Amino acid sequence: MKHKLIQTSLEKEVRERAKRDFFYVCFTVLILTLFSLLASVDLFEQLYHFSREHEHWEMDEITLTALWFGLGGLFYAYRRMQDLRSLLHEASDKAFFDQVSQLPNRTYSLECLTQMIHRAERLDRQVAVIFIDLDNFKMVNDTYGHAKGDLLLQSVGQRLRNSIRKSDVVGRLGGDEYLVLIELADEDELAPVLERIKLTQEEAYRLDENDLFLRFSAGVAIYPYDGRDAADLLKASDIAMYSSKISGEGHIQLYTQGMAETLYARYQLESDLKKAIQNKDFYMEYQPQLSLENDQIIGYEALIRWERKGELVPTAQFIQVAEETGHIEELGLWALHQALEDAKFFLRSDQVLGVNITPRQFRHSDFVYQIQGGLSIYGFSPHQLVLEVTESALVSEAFDDIRQKLTDLRQLGVSVAIDDFGIGYSSLGRLKDLPITCLKIDQLFTHALMTSELDRNLVSTLITLARNLRLSVLAEGVETKEQLELLRQMGCHLAQGFYIGKPTSLAQLADSVKFSSE
Ligand code: C2E
Ligand code: MG
Ligand code: MG
Repeated sequence: MKHKLIQTSLEKEVRERAKRDFFYVCFTVLILTLFSLLASVDLFEQLYHFSREHEHWEMDEITLTALWFGLGGLFYAYRRMQDLRSLLHEASDKAFFDQVSQLPNRTYSLECLTQMIHRAERLDRQVAVIFIDLDNFKMVNDTYGHAKGDLLLQSVGQRLRNSIRKSDVVGRLGGDEYLVLIELADEDELAPVLERIKLTQEEAYRLDENDLFLRFSAGVAIYPYDGRDAADLLKASDIAMYSSKISGEGHIQLYTQGMAETLYARYQLESDLKKAIQNKDFYMEYQPQLSLENDQIIGYEALIRWERKGELVPTAQFIQVAEETGHIEELGLWALHQALEDAKFFLRSDQVLGVNITPRQFRHSDFVYQIQGGLSIYGFSPHQLVLEVTESALVSEAFDDIRQKLTDLRQLGVSVAIDDFGIGYSSLGRLKDLPITCLKIDQLFTHALMTSELDRNLVSTLITLARNLRLSVLAEGVETKEQLELLRQMGCHLAQGFYIGKPTSLAQLADSVKFSSE
């Protein structure tokens, strides 16, 4: 049930004015009465005489009519007051409550925060401001429609509301953002509250007969440490939330001073990346892949590079930013086309070209057409193309759609490898149902081969698994001869890494190909 938690400053002012007016009216009536007494005003007698003298004016009727008018006026005024009150109620409901979730809206939440800050200042307490933003809510709206999306927003609000005390506040700031305000007598009270808020994500929401798990990113700022007024605290909690979103780990982040700088650097990277995409400021490098069965280079993996202000930006870093901001669709397509074009200069017809594809690229509804289009533009044989997708692209809920895309690609003749295998969350049950061709074991395992027996056993198991599933298996990140030999003994088909060859530019690669054929 919706209830007002605090009085707004306007409400307070109106109440004060009513009190003041009541006092002034009483005072004036008292003064006038005193004056009448002192001045011995004979009003009634004069009226009496006047009515006697003007009997023919029908004074009784006139007086009665005036009385009826007065009573009618009073009744009318009372009814209008009632109307005004309901109008005010409705206006304040619209002005202060979000109409979807029935929770306090942005204005009212901030007003609550301001008053909580004042109280905390007086009582020497703290206020925790928790900024919550749902992850991938757009997907819910797109899939189930806005009406269902609204229902979900209500349920999320209700769960948050149930996870805190009645005296604390949950508001909806708009979109998929909520604000939770908690008054803390001391800092130790915060952790259990955060835990309860976090737990609200664990239970599925029921939507259209489907169970839907909804995650959120959240950031916390605390009065008085992270800001002294509502605007500063909101900004700090927003920054902390954003940092939680970027980390993608689902932790509720506490605001720290350094966060603002990190965020600024990230904004900078984002806007530079946008410009670089417009100007196509990228180039590709190619890393060889070796067959451990006949020691031949069987292909190359295409890896994108970006030089920003004279320095190379780590590829994984800007690819992740591009993925989160949606720029990957344009960037990924550019990389695919560039690789297909470059390959003419160095790739033999018995070699393959690996091109990386992020989950977002893969999810694109036109993905298969994009690949088909690229192949036909450059006259590239589909049998020479291997798309490297990470496990996370294949664990989405739309399993049928994934399988369909993979099947279409296979029908074209294009192969698909699972990249960074072992660090994701592939369900083996699902894997065996997908038409993939190769597992690329993540370099983390290769690096630990010589030091940890556990990893050695794990790699050996992964190799056996791949072989049993009739897939080829490639070990990434091979940096030493020992690793290479061990992998060979374990039955690994392919290897890639600095020991075999570092990623090199097209110019270097084309030169070396020319050199070796001369
Ligand atoms: P990945 O597909 O797993 O690529 C292998 C990464 O390991 C590359 O990093 C490569 O330079 C690095 N590497 C290869 N051998 C060794 C080694 O022996 N030791 C070590 N320490 N590292 C090695 P890079 O180029 O920084 O790329 C990082 C990730 O960025 C790639 O991981 C891939 O997921 C993504 N990526 C790269 N290029 C593209 C692209 O064109 N499109 C898309 N969508 N993603 C790309
Ligand atoms: Mg790769
Ligand atoms: Mg990899």
